[in-house]
Amino acid sequence: MPLNAQVQDSDPGADAAQPPVATYDNRLIQVRLGMASSLLTALRHKHAPAAEHSLRVALGCSSWAFAIGLPNAEREELEVAALLHDIGKIASPERLLLKPGRLSDEEARLMDQYRLAGLDILSDCSPSRAIVDIIRHSAGFYDGSRPNYPLAAKKIPGGARMLAIVDAFDSMTTDQVYRQAMSRERALNELFAHAGTQFDPDLIQSFSEVNVGVRLHQKVISHWLKTLDLRKANQFWQNVPHDLLEEPAVPNQSLFEEKLLDNMFDAVIFVDCNMRIVRWNRGAERLTGISRESVLHHHWAPDVVGLKDEKKGALQGLDCPVAYSISTGVQSLRRLMVTTSTKLIAVDAHTVPVVGSDGTTHGAAMLLHDASPQATLEEQCNNLHERATKDPLTKVANRAEFDRMHHLFVNAHLECRVPCSLVICDLDHFKSINDNYGHQAGDEVLKSFGALLRSECRSGDVVARYGGEEFVLLCANCTNSAAARRAEQLRRLISELPQEALHGNVATASFGVTEIQPGDTPESMLRRADRALMEAKRVGRNTVIQLGDGLRQSASLEGKKPAAQTAGDVMIDTVLATSVPLKIAVEKLRGFVVDHDAEVLTIKNDRLDLQIESLQSKPTRRRSDRPVPFHVELHFSERRVDIKSAEGQVAGRSYRTQVRCVIRLHRNRDRRSRELMAQANAILSAIQSYLMANRDAPPADPGTTRRAVNMLAPWLKLNE
Ligand code: GH3
Ligand code: MG
Ligand code: MG
Repeated sequence: MPLNAQVQDSDPGADAAQPPVATYDNRLIQVRLGMASSLLTALRHKHAPAAEHSLRVALGCSSWAFAIGLPNAEREELEVAALLHDIGKIASPERLLLKPGRLSDEEARLMDQYRLAGLDILSDCSPSRAIVDIIRHSAGFYDGSRPNYPLAAKKIPGGARMLAIVDAFDSMTTDQVYRQAMSRERALNELFAHAGTQFDPDLIQSFSEVNVGVRLHQKVISHWLKTLDLRKANQFWQNVPHDLLEEPAVPNQSLFEEKLLDNMFDAVIFVDCNMRIVRWNRGAERLTGISRESVLHHHWAPDVVGLKDEKKGALQGLDCPVAYSISTGVQSLRRLMVTTSTKLIAVDAHTVPVVGSDGTTHGAAMLLHDASPQATLEEQCNNLHERATKDPLTKVANRAEFDRMHHLFVNAHLECRVPCSLVICDLDHFKSINDNYGHQAGDEVLKSFGALLRSECRSGDVVARYGGEEFVLLCANCTNSAAARRAEQLRRLISELPQEALHGNVATASFGVTEIQPGDTPESMLRRADRALMEAKRVGRNTVIQLGDGLRQSASLEGKKPAAQTAGDVMIDTVLATSVPLKIAVEKLRGFVVDHDAEVLTIKNDRLDLQIESLQSKPTRRRSDRPVPFHVELHFSERRVDIKSAEGQVAGRSYRTQVRCVIRLHRNRDRRSRELMAQANAILSAIQSYLMANRDAPPADPGTTRRAVNMLAPWLKLNE
């Protein structure tokens, strides 16, 4: 089947929940790569994130290949190529791999050379030609415009065009030293924005439809582990001695250490002698509110965790216990303060130098123990407060407390323009748990899920039981992608936790995740998360779905000028341009309508009219503060972008959407009021966030634009 064929509902393997990638990654790499797995081990030692990225990209390519029914041989070559596509990084200097900012042109050129070094490394294993070609051409641009990559359009091997997309998507949705992870929606938008230039537009369409996510990855993991044979794993490599491979060793000591460290309540931080953070346990996440992903491999400094001396003074030079232990080889125990955005925590910091048997210092290990006084008067007051705000069964916050906190969260985070995220989780098939094991057992599962959520939350977060078997987690200072990662961790943990009340069987849960975005109210944020949860249920449960673009990424789209107030009734009249085709833009706008409870007034040809209350959190008693209905008029058009070959001929097409957005008051009122103008702008910002669109787009050439006549039919489904 050709690469851009229709998506199929194929299932590559068993549907039983599988342990996480991390548990199996060595094994997966061995069964897939055979002797060449040592290359990936070398890469892991050089730069662990690059090796992890390679495995995710390979699973992503494989999931996609299964979904579109790619022939097995092509899929297998693609899997191997994806695992090895970054192998050249073994040869690149650390200063490039760890550079916190963007690479200069010269550095980017150097990185390109290391890609070639990768092909050189591979050539010694004599892999199949197809694998080398996929890796070689995956860095080329679809329109042939990238220097040194002569192939263009469909002449680029299909596997290379797929690899380019999954590679870019994974890089964009993962934290990098030079950039925070983007939301999946935003990353998809970026792919569409480069459809036809960098990427194959047909394949981007296909990729966006397949929704490659953890669930599909798990199917691939299951498939690899079940069907790939370690002894046959060397099919792609020549001259392999047959006795090279044996069963891999059982989990080693480091796994035990990791478990121990992660289950300790105290924070444990390892810093190597180059002052790089190499270990950050859960306790450290809990104490500091900083995720492991965001600090691992970064440079250590007391400021990273807001570590201060007892008088809240800065720790400079050898005053920092880590620097002191590394440079003097002496351990220390000191009372210090950790300052987070919300708290000041007294800690006992015990720092030990790590010295090898030959006397070389490898770094320092620091343990931070929360030393806040235990039984204070404040705590007794808290106990009373707890009874009023907690769910008695699960001991997490109750719904009333959640509503109160959510309101505060939304206002505070929007005001400071700091991201925060909301995760809604709902136990799967809980009714049948009650039916099969009894209500008491159901209660035990609820308690165990509540406890799990509590143990995984960080300082500043709120966990609440929203009702029945539905829980919410408000994550402070947390972006979409970090929240989705945390939800994924929770999903995995619950799916692996044997429940005594269920005779050792496990329960699973589905998760909807969203980050706050401009124009949000608590209600719209909750509805968006709820839509994500419903989608997670729809695609089969035991899964995480994230929706929305988030705060910073949406804000980066905003035009510099505020929208202009024009004559007559109209308060805003502007054109929004987004890089996705109309079908996807309409889908995103449907999300806006649902989340903001907008009323669809009419749909006619390319025009949609909505009525929406001003985006205000809570109605107040002052008349001027009451919600005001606005009328939003949207005109859709789709712009064709021709993709030219190097010879200047039209080689393909991709589509972008433009939406003219006119906002006015539904009823007459003093339009000049600054508050009303601000509210109209908030509506525009919200629409813009949902569409991930730029404002004030220049008018498109009418020859390349088609009005979206009769293309708004999906709206009709709204009322179903
Ligand atoms: P889905 O996967 O679609 O979420 O299916 P579900 O069965 O979990 O969802 P449904 O909403 O049909 O059923 C929820 C059940 O949760 C029904 C209700 O009896 C049960 N439930 C709600 N609160 C409690 C509680 O406090 N204790 C127990 N044991 N059960 C509860
Ligand atoms: Mg349920
Ligand atoms: Mg439910």
